[in-house]
Amino acid sequence: MGNARKGWLVAGAGFTGATAARRLAEATGEPVLVIDKRDHIGGNAFDAPNADGVSVHRYGPHIFHTNSDAVFGFLSRFTAWRPYEHRVQAEIDGRLVPLPFGFAAIEALFPAAQAARLIARLTERYGAEARVPILKLRQSEDGDLKALAAFIYDKVFAGYTLKQWGMPAEALSPSVTARVPVIVSRDERYFADRHQAMPAEGYAALFARMLDHPLIEVALSTPLESLPPELRARRTVYTGPLDAYFGHDEGHLPYRSMAFAEETRPAFGVQPCGTINFPDDRPATRTTEQGWLTGETAGRSVLVTEYPQAHVPGVNEPFYPVPGEAGDALARRYRARAEALNGRVWFAGRLADYQYYNMDQAAARALTLVAKEILPQAG
Ligand SMILES: Cc1cc2nc3c(=O)[nH]c(=O)nc-3n(C[C@H](O)[C@H](O)[C@H](O)COP(=O)(O)OP(=O)(O)OC[C@H]3O[C@@H](n4cnc5c(N)ncnc54)[C@H](O)[C@@H]3O)c2cc1C
Repeated sequence: MGNARKGWLVAGAGFTGATAARRLAEATGEPVLVIDKRDHIGGNAFDAPNADGVSVHRYGPHIFHTNSDAVFGFLSRFTAWRPYEHRVQAEIDGRLVPLPFGFAAIEALFPAAQAARLIARLTERYGAEARVPILKLRQSEDGDLKALAAFIYDKVFAGYTLKQWGMPAEALSPSVTARVPVIVSRDERYFADRHQAMPAEGYAALFARMLDHPLIEVALSTPLESLPPELRARRTVYTGPLDAYFGHDEGHLPYRSMAFAEETRPAFGVQPCGTINFPDDRPATRTTEQGWLTGETAGRSVLVTEYPQAHVPGVNEPFYPVPGEAGDALARRYRARAEALNGRVWFAGRLADYQYYNMDQAAARALTLVAKEILPQAG
């Protein structure tokens, strides 16, 4: 850790920090010290073999998808890809139906004549291949479509949302509801992005290559707070929690957390697809069979079931910012203080921006931060 005062400090080795570190090393030719308080790189995307030797995503299943050629191109420098299109089914009224909710789900759940009528109405009203937010469908003037929206809202969305966030859908910001689409097609892929693939050797290997650069030094099990003042004085990209940087002195930002239960089975193929969602009132939200994601299908299979829970600082991980005015208002106050440090400390990432990002959005945030903000200021 002995590099001189000159150079950069990056706190956090997840998608945001690792991307920023690589670009800073390449573009400035100065040393970059990357620290992480955890004992591994990769942030929440980290994967590793479990006790049975099966590769598992330690912080929940991570599926890569993006429409950004720039992000896909950048990451492709550090990994080969295995094509993978994620599929999700929901258990509704004792049947498995594909999500997002589309023609196949309608046909599985409604009598044939009614299903045909609903499909025709949807296509007529919104056009083939459209993705209609459930909120919009609920506002439809058409009685059949309104009833369909109410059915989907009730059976697919309301129960799942209550478990995921610990509060009813109505209490959440409409941005959450707006995101859930009903699709006017037979496309059973969960994502519609142009690039859908998984790192061929996993995320940990991708990160190891991204951070393998002569100017990058990585120190694990090293919280920012533990660094000596001369290293903390470096120009810093901070990707940890926004409120933690300021000692939570205005209060804790609200997060939702998650517990994961792992189960090993003797052979792959327990589920018909990567993830099964449970929108009913059992405590778990979904189960993912890892082999679909990792491509490891020989030998034993690992199922990971997710149980959303309240975030308790210091006890479990802050995973999802809770959408709503209380958190937003507090985040705005911390952000104003963060901006005052701009030029010496830059805040970025899902924790430091206090905003949910997918992995590609985290990488995009870091690429833009370095190119558009840091490098112009660094001259
Ligand atoms: C359950 C779950 C499932 C997800 N599934 C998907 C998915 O399928 N597809 C997808 O695209 N995205 C998914 N995501 C989102 C994905 O995890 C994020 O986009 C990504 O992790 C963001 O990267 P980041 O670097 O901003 O944050 P993180 O990955 O959280 O990295 C931040 C790092 O900073 C470190 N840190 C924090 N404070 C300090 C400190 N004081 N000092 C030193 N280090 C510190 C942390 O230890 C951590 O390693 C999922 C997220 C969750 C929670």
